[in-house]
Amino acid sequence: DALLTAKEEANKGLEDLYDAENQLVKALPKMAKAASEPQLQQAFEQHLGQTKTHVERIEQIFKTMGSSPKGKSCKAMKGLIEEGEEMIKQRADAAVRDAGLIAAAQRVEHYEIAGYGCVRTYADLLGMADSSALLQQTLNEEGMTDKQLTKLAEQVINLEAER
Ligand code: FE
Ligand code: FE
Repeated sequence: DALLTAKEEANKGLEDLYDAENQLVKALPKMAKAASEPQLQQAFEQHLGQTKTHVERIEQIFKTMGSSPKGKSCKAMKGLIEEGEEMIKQRADAAVRDAGLIAAAQRVEHYEIAGYGCVRTYADLLGMADSSALLQQTLNEEGMTDKQLTKLAEQVINLEAER
């Protein structure tokens, strides 16, 4: 077997993220619906919009590379979303459920941050400056979402503690 090249490895990472993002486009509306705190609902809805842009950026990068996603499925994201769904189904106080939803969403963001960091680095190494910049933009948005969720978690938990 031929050794995997950096370009092939970058391609695999992008395919994984492409499927992960598409899974999220379907999951985020359910998470927004399950959230009680209006600010959390809003955060999920806002990130849905960003996530659709993330999908488009990956499509753009594939175009630049002269290839297209081959339908690889991201098992990790499937598992993370399943755990989020378990959280939604649990009988719990609104604030406790919100905190659980935030924890599930942050696991998702951390997974994406790891994945994008990797493909962005490959893009740099391969001299794909435009693709690297697009991936960095997504990486920044995932990072900001993660920080916003941390703030919301503190608010939600404080509200619960005040009762
Ligand atoms: Fe994303
Ligand atoms: Fe995200």
